[in-house]
Amino acid sequence: MILPPSYLSLPVKFRREVRPEVYPKPEIAIYNDELAKQLGVDLRDANILSGAVIQPGTTPLALGYAGHQFGNYTVLGDGRAVLLGEIESPDGKRWDIQLKGSGRTPFSRRGDGRATLGPMLREYIMSEALAALGIPTTRSLAVLTTGESVFRFSQEPGAILVRVAASHLRIGTFEYATDDELGTLADFTIQRHYPELLAQDDKYYRFLRQVIARQAKLVAQWMSIGFIHGVMNTDNVALSGETIDFGPCAFMNRYDPSTTYSSIDTQGRYAFGNQPSIMHWNLARFAETLLPLLADATEVAIKRAEEALQTFPLAFNAELERLMSQKLGGDLSSLEELYRWMYETGADYTNTFADLSLAEPSSSDDRFRAWHAKWKESVSQEIKNHHVIPRNRLVEEALVAAAQESNLTPLHELVSVLRRPYERPHIKYRSADDTADYRTFCGT
Ligand code: AMP
Ligand code: MG
Repeated sequence: MILPPSYLSLPVKFRREVRPEVYPKPEIAIYNDELAKQLGVDLRDANILSGAVIQPGTTPLALGYAGHQFGNYTVLGDGRAVLLGEIESPDGKRWDIQLKGSGRTPFSRRGDGRATLGPMLREYIMSEALAALGIPTTRSLAVLTTGESVFRFSQEPGAILVRVAASHLRIGTFEYATDDELGTLADFTIQRHYPELLAQDDKYYRFLRQVIARQAKLVAQWMSIGFIHGVMNTDNVALSGETIDFGPCAFMNRYDPSTTYSSIDTQGRYAFGNQPSIMHWNLARFAETLLPLLADATEVAIKRAEEALQTFPLAFNAELERLMSQKLGGDLSSLEELYRWMYETGADYTNTFADLSLAEPSSSDDRFRAWHAKWKESVSQEIKNHHVIPRNRLVEEALVAAAQESNLTPLHELVSVLRRPYERPHIKYRSADDTADYRTFCGT
């Protein structure tokens, strides 16, 4: 059952009632049975999932928020999404159900409120891959086609993504609040994601620290698997600590910290290696929004915010070291040299680590063999590495087959392999892309 969104208790500025567009012929293209089971819901109904039929008692909402996009503050809001309501999973957790591509809203500005099939399926693939790797992420319950065609680069099938998220509260939601609204918004967010803080002294400072800790951990997880979010604007940073809104995201193949896939990221602001410092910057914007709650005197509040922000690099490094030592089998003293070798030879990031579990060194390169011999001596614990990431060419193939030929077989096959990342699949799913000039698009 879909429950009314708890956002109804927020000031009206943060949520506008909107009816999702009723599309000509909504049809389910893919439905995530596994996720539906985990959530204890059965929503396999195109009329419900497209928002054509609204369950009694629920109130669809477009949420208001702002954000720093590529460094510049802008007022945004859900321009092509509505929150259908919430569900409660068997473990008592609350989840937002949001339709992306559900038509125009009061926040649409000049956009058409539409989404197309390729980008929505990309989000489906990527979120399933992240979830299987144990990385906090919003999930995709389904993708539907709308029966409408939408013009982007060409005419493309219109689509809706049914997204499940711990919430849609973002750094940008706080950037949208006035000082008067801040306490209400902070209490609401704490209640939803950090309820244990409610009864504690100094809950807002602790809240800031917790958000920083979760994001530090999240970015360390991305770095450990070569994930490039692609559009780390502050509106795309969820306060729950989940990966969200990763439109142009892709996984790095050859190891190079400057890797940037997004076609709109011309300066490489969100390049692989910049992600930790960008998240630190984003969290500074978040801390600024909280200043009025941190202390009465502004200088004191600033000092406390700075103190909290200083914990980011420490938490990030600690988590990254923990993850990398799982990949190398304990000791990290050989890691720098491996990074350098990968960088200089263009070796594949995922496969270099995955192949460490083979009996023999995976490369005949002398330098690698010398590194391998030394590294092997240092191994003191079991090595844990995944063998599969969504390779860019396979993602593209699956999206083209789905959008241009209505053939969903490659997509289903890819997702089923991505769901078992620690198994060693057929070489087709493991071999690296040779597309150094690969580009991704936001799909807006
Ligand atoms: P995103 O890149 O998906 O994080 O979106 C950034 C902002 O642009 C959000 O406010 C979106 O709601 C808005 N937006 C993106 N695409 C559209 C569209 N086709 N129509 C209206 N608003 C859009
Ligand atoms: Mg966004």
